[in-house]
Amino acid sequence: MITPNIVDLSNGMNFINGEFKPARSGLTDQVLDPATGSVIAQVASSDAADVDEAVIAATEAFTTWSETTPRERFEMLSALADAIEGDLDRLKQIEALNVGKPLSIIDFEFDLTVDNFRFFAAAARFLDGRAAGEYMADHTSFLRRDPLGVIASIAPWNYPLNMATWKIGPALATGNTVVLKPSELTPLSAIRLAELAAEIFPPGVFNLVLGQGETTGAALVAHPDVAMVSVTGDVGTGKLIAKSASENLKRVHLELGGKAPVIVFDDADIEAVVSTLAEASYYNSGQDCTAPCRVIAGPGVFEDLAERLTAAVAALKVGDPFDPDVAVGPVISAEQQSRVAGMVDRAVAAGAELTTGGSVRAGSGFFYEPTVLVNPAQDAEIVQREVFGPVVSLQRFSDEAQALAWANDVDFGLAASVWTSDVGRAMRMSKRLQFGTVWVNDHIPIVSEMPHGGFKQSGYGKDMSVYALEHYTELKHVMIKF
Ligand code: NAD
Repeated sequence: MITPNIVDLSNGMNFINGEFKPARSGLTDQVLDPATGSVIAQVASSDAADVDEAVIAATEAFTTWSETTPRERFEMLSALADAIEGDLDRLKQIEALNVGKPLSIIDFEFDLTVDNFRFFAAAARFLDGRAAGEYMADHTSFLRRDPLGVIASIAPWNYPLNMATWKIGPALATGNTVVLKPSELTPLSAIRLAELAAEIFPPGVFNLVLGQGETTGAALVAHPDVAMVSVTGDVGTGKLIAKSASENLKRVHLELGGKAPVIVFDDADIEAVVSTLAEASYYNSGQDCTAPCRVIAGPGVFEDLAERLTAAVAALKVGDPFDPDVAVGPVISAEQQSRVAGMVDRAVAAGAELTTGGSVRAGSGFFYEPTVLVNPAQDAEIVQREVFGPVVSLQRFSDEAQALAWANDVDFGLAASVWTSDVGRAMRMSKRLQFGTVWVNDHIPIVSEMPHGGFKQSGYGKDMSVYALEHYTELKHVMIKF
């Protein structure tokens, strides 16, 4: 293993009302390096008392923060983007160490993080509304978009800083205050973010509480003074949160799982398909909600694609995230490793053919070999359920109707791609695919200006874009009689 020139990870504290502090109980949780399994930090394990303190601080800060102008918030969010940009080396090292992301491929998500903050900061200066006017005689009506109050932002472990950004950025830009709870597995980049934010925002505007989902997260969602919960996570977690939030009808924004189909027609550029899949399906060890993990290929390209994809995947270098030649790191935890192994084993037992990978890598750390499974049945678990690991399945369709039916035949609806040189077919498919993002002849790129979110059980609400800003504000009609 290459020893990273790593930064100080000793600040494992909550950040509440402008101060770093341990959990009131004094309890801590261990944070692991998934590439070795060793403990790298101890962080606060918060309970309802810490959550309450953070929500009180955020509630008090809301009274003044919601009175700031869009320009003032723009200036502070831009300063945060600059601070992150100035701290990129350290943040990348923290994320590589805590998530096991290879440094060789980490740049794009940090570039996106900085750009997201800049986008939200500026976009909140241009909120939309219909024209003011006299829709009733002697009455002028106009619209306002007002902030909601305290936002609970609950983030997952796969892109810890970037997913937090998608929630914090639009919330703060529109005049809300925030309590962020990162994943208990990956809290370290959020602590660094709080250190940077401490220099910029007034106390209580941005707060961080660390801890487990079932305790810290659940207490935050249940808190009566939280106005909205925005969570990125598992479908089961989203359902629990929506249920709890219904107690006082908090607004809920859910970015949940995915099972993205990749529909490859016989007229597709197979070289482009193979190179995209070899990178995007295994990037972040496949722990990406939009990962192209479910390939559905036409009869004319199926054999060629299976052969070339298998060769490309077998050539991926797996190992130490700090090795510049490594493309695939570990999965996040021992639990995730055995979950992936179990799903692949059951897929093979159910009749799928393993063409490469299919095993846990011996030694320390939570590694799983990049895997390709060919010819699973449409109703097989490996086709229907999210693996969230470095595993791709490949099915052969007979015609366009079957390709579309198979693609839509899952509970998820986050992202899909269509590969063809026929423009009419691309248009037909993108209309009929029930997914929040459809790429044509590509898979994975995202931009701050465009929305990201799901159909079906992938959740509701959009991250990024001006549509995210709409969720963090309430439309108000003001009517004045004259
Ligand atoms: P997870 O559901 O286990 O945890 C997500 C967050 O929710 C964590 O902070 C966790 O502590 C918290 N949490 C768990 N139980 C809770 C509860 N009862 N109340 C409140 N908070 C609770 O998800 P994960 O394993 O961290 O992330 C992986 C999942 O996230 C995958 O399903 C993936 O598809 C999804 N994801 C979706 C998107 C998207 O944009 N749609 C993006 C990234 C990841």
